[in-house]
Amino acid sequence: MIDVHCHLNLHAFDEDFEEVAKRAFESGVKIIVNTGTSIPSSRRAIEFANEFDNMYAIVGVHPHHADKADREFEGELQNDWFDKLSKIALDQKVIGIGEIGLDYHTYKSNGVVDKKIQEETFRKQIELSIKLKLPLQIHNRLAGEDVVRVLKEYRNNFQRPPGMFHCFAGTLEVLKEALDLGFYIGFDGNVTYKGIAPGETVALPDLAKEVPLDRILTETDSPFLSPVPLRGTRNEPKNVIIVGEFLAQLKDTTFESFQGQIYKNFEKLFGIKI
Ligand SMILES: [Zn+2]
Ligand SMILES: [Zn+2]
Repeated sequence: MIDVHCHLNLHAFDEDFEEVAKRAFESGVKIIVNTGTSIPSSRRAIEFANEFDNMYAIVGVHPHHADKADREFEGELQNDWFDKLSKIALDQKVIGIGEIGLDYHTYKSNGVVDKKIQEETFRKQIELSIKLKLPLQIHNRLAGEDVVRVLKEYRNNFQRPPGMFHCFAGTLEVLKEALDLGFYIGFDGNVTYKGIAPGETVALPDLAKEVPLDRILTETDSPFLSPVPLRGTRNEPKNVIIVGEFLAQLKDTTFESFQGQIYKNFEKLFGIKI
């Protein structure tokens, strides 16, 4: 299996990052991609990627942090975040720009960041990805129409394929637009949860059913979104196998054949031979 989006670079794994990674590789996870949400966490993702052969990094500033890019943040002054990002993105283990996008969900700790600042931060990073020919890893929460509107403006400049939506949620229309633009679609442990998440209108399995097998990707978003039956505990990359088993069943195929397809999809999107 492949975990194409997780955060071993966050503090939840400060104590045991290496053990967690080893546990995943021993369980049959072939590749782990750590994604940054800020400059410091993007840096950590690169450090970790340089420790393990089968680990890669995706770097970027999450829409949550779009308004903090010019303030003191995680002990580091971010007033030149874009220059820093442009530099670290050149590391050989960096395979994409993310997680970037728009997020209109009100979080207790964060509220909703000013939408204009979110969009500006998103655009700057899309332009960087085009310049560096790196695929995008998109974060969208309750902002699908705006995410698609922004992406469409760049459609003629995108590399093929342009990237992936990570932890997809939204309407069937947004899904169709994302697929039409050439994006791959990632699903996490929350695809195993019953019901529809607050603010959403379509259940995740119903969206996953609509994604062609040659466009789907698997991820965990560790430490978040542990799949059933581990829901509520700290998630880790080995659990991407549970996500894969669930999706294989949903798509009416065997785990082996589904896994083979995930490898092909990953190779095609990120240009890395497995
Ligand atoms: Zn995300
Ligand atoms: Zn994430």
